[in-house]
Amino acid sequence: MSTINSVLGPVDTADLGFTLSHEHLATNAAGILRTFPELIDRPGIIDEANTTLKEAYDEGLRTIIDVSTIDLGRDVEMMREVSQATGVKIIAATGNHLAVPRPFIDFAPEVIANLYVREIEQGIEGTGIKAGIIKVASDAGGVTEAQEIVLRAAGQACVRTGIPISTHTWSPDRVGEQQVRILKEEGVDMNLVYIGHSNDDTDMGYLLGLLDQGVWLGLDRFPGGRRAGTPLWEQRTELTKNLIDAGRADRIMLSHDHSVPKARYGAAVQEERFKYNPDGYNFITRNVLPRLKELGVSDSDINQIMVENPRRFFEG
Ligand SMILES: [Zn+2]
Repeated sequence: MSTINSVLGPVDTADLGFTLSHEHLATNAAGILRTFPELIDRPGIIDEANTTLKEAYDEGLRTIIDVSTIDLGRDVEMMREVSQATGVKIIAATGNHLAVPRPFIDFAPEVIANLYVREIEQGIEGTGIKAGIIKVASDAGGVTEAQEIVLRAAGQACVRTGIPISTHTWSPDRVGEQQVRILKEEGVDMNLVYIGHSNDDTDMGYLLGLLDQGVWLGLDRFPGGRRAGTPLWEQRTELTKNLIDAGRADRIMLSHDHSVPKARYGAAVQEERFKYNPDGYNFITRNVLPRLKELGVSDSDINQIMVENPRRFFEG
């Protein structure tokens, strides 16, 4: 048993319950909320997040890991307000997404690691809310120079604090392998590494190879198909079943990478977002888990994936 940081303070890992491993309340860009607030309907987003997360709580959801970073317009006060209103625990992230802040390139990873450690140990932006996970990101074509600084910094912050790492990857280019190599060079324990978006491709060779390195796999883009050519939810569910059949139910986690439609600007795009996933944070509960059961997956495997694995991940 151990304790991790949620936006409402420390929680016992045994109390995390049914957990979605890679979500967002809202994403935009660094500084927008302060500089161009008219682009963000913050009260509307909070309303929508409250409504949908309350619904999800009623259907069993207990915790979401919100992997929004500074460059995704992270708003930890919003997370706190929504967590208080809905009862859903929210774990906030330090680290970075793809738009690495421009000055980072001038610094050694050790300097950036200090920033992440401060957000873990002292809190984020003076709120006292402490990060419970470290986010890093690389995408198509592999790890860029700036992203490598962030990856190494995240690795060092993980080694220093014992807080786990969650990555954004592009699996069709096997970017997870590159992330693992760099994190290993920093001495990171692979028990503390979650390779995310691993279901944007169905290459079992790639995925089993990653699992052999000792990491966790995030199958965290349901319903899927947003990026051209990536698998739809039925194929993603089948991939999940194949990994369970390969004996790896002990090493996978499911999630949506959802953010509420109101987080986007304009009725047309909001409507499109809603059509893409009308169930929001409940899509897996309402569609994927029933389908997995139809395919013969046991309740105990589902409990392992949705409850036990997130707990064990945070316990290292
Ligand atoms: Zn995401």
